[in-house]
Amino acid sequence: MKYDLAEEQRLLRESIREFVEHEIIPHAGEWDKQHRFPSEVIQKCAEMGLAGVMVPKELGGAGLTTLDYVIATEEISRGCASTGVILSVNNSLVLDPLMRFGNEAQKQKYIPPLASGEQLGCFGLTEPAAGSDAGSQKTVYREEDDCFLINGTKNFITNGPQADVCILFASKDPSLGNKGLTAFITESGFAGFNRGKAENKMGICASGTSTITVDNLRVPKENRLGAEGEGFKIAMSTLDGGRIGIAAQAVGIAQAALEAAQSYAGERVQFGRPIASFQGLRWMLADMAVTVDAARLLTWKAAVVRDRGERYTFEASQAKLFASETANRVADRAVQIHGGYGYIKEYPVERFFRDAKITGIYEGTSEIQRLVVAQKILKDHSLVCNA
Ligand SMILES: Cc1cc2nc3c(=O)[nH]c(=O)nc-3n(C[C@H](O)[C@H](O)[C@H](O)COP(=O)(O)OP(=O)(O)OC[C@H]3O[C@@H](n4cnc5c(N)ncnc54)[C@H](O)[C@@H]3O)c2cc1C
Repeated sequence: MKYDLAEEQRLLRESIREFVEHEIIPHAGEWDKQHRFPSEVIQKCAEMGLAGVMVPKELGGAGLTTLDYVIATEEISRGCASTGVILSVNNSLVLDPLMRFGNEAQKQKYIPPLASGEQLGCFGLTEPAAGSDAGSQKTVYREEDDCFLINGTKNFITNGPQADVCILFASKDPSLGNKGLTAFITESGFAGFNRGKAENKMGICASGTSTITVDNLRVPKENRLGAEGEGFKIAMSTLDGGRIGIAAQAVGIAQAALEAAQSYAGERVQFGRPIASFQGLRWMLADMAVTVDAARLLTWKAAVVRDRGERYTFEASQAKLFASETANRVADRAVQIHGGYGYIKEYPVERFFRDAKITGIYEGTSEIQRLVVAQKILKDHSLVCNA
């Protein structure tokens, strides 16, 4: 594995960074304060190919790699973690399963508008009583004439208030557990599709999150995604890719917090010297810089393994776990380095601190990532123990 980026990737990073400096960073604090969905900037990102980064050009995407996607997601999230997750859900949780499990007609119908930013997607898996244990779904479907009839409630759905298309999971019979799940492509315009009010969140306040209640939702038969009973596999394999996106989002937040702390430590004078000259702070900054780089490298590694076409469940969990914990630690240290000013909303580190928290919760909590990592290392280890 190479540890540096190719020339095209450096150019991609520079062009997105410039866009973020001018179009996102000056406004991100205000979007957060007003809980305002940044529709204009999402549209501009889509024009740059960021709504469908890994979608082939024939289907209206940018035709780039997972590594390009994580570079883009880090840069966008460095400016605004909400914009980062809005795009990440569209890319990883909606377009990716459509590309991998959609039939030709479904791809032609749904991918181009989602990849161009004309439409926005969401992913409906979590329910009030099915979070980490995603297989215990209570949303149920049954066949009726020419459609599937679906009933149930989905919780905490990113892009829920805005989405045009939802990849929705439902069970034929909850007693079947994971095996009963099927995925469906639903549209917000279908009769029976109801959005709840937007949640009032701690962080990523410019992104919309809501419940989606489906009440005798009629989904045409041709909108089943993949085979019947394949829903759990679709959901879990989709989340593997999503976790790489969230790792990149966490690296972006951590990088922003590190830069803010570096700059403040150089300017703030106490005891007649910039606080950056005190060893206690220098060590703090050094640890922050090292862990941000380590998180970035783990995220790139997961992306490269995916781009090679190999299994990447372990690498994705490892990257998400480390990057999200790094984002939380680095944002916490950045607030500390700002002293009292770090606690005041005028300084962006307060937003980074709140935004970092979610990266260890959604798309599988840190505890769930540890289960995935442990399962892999112990399976390998048990071969030795059993011998
Ligand atoms: C802002 C936001 C956006 C979201 N976006 C989406 C979305 O777009 N689509 C979607 O489907 N979902 C989404 N979610 C849901 C998110 O993925 C879940 O909240 C998450 O998976 C945890 O589920 P839960 O909240 O039910 O917590 P629970 O599963 O109830 O977990 C509670 C605690 O128990 C721990 N725990 C649970 N099981 C175990 C175990 N076996 N071992 C050790 N510890 C365990 C957890 O780690 C956690 O600490 C979002 C959530 C939020 C807050």
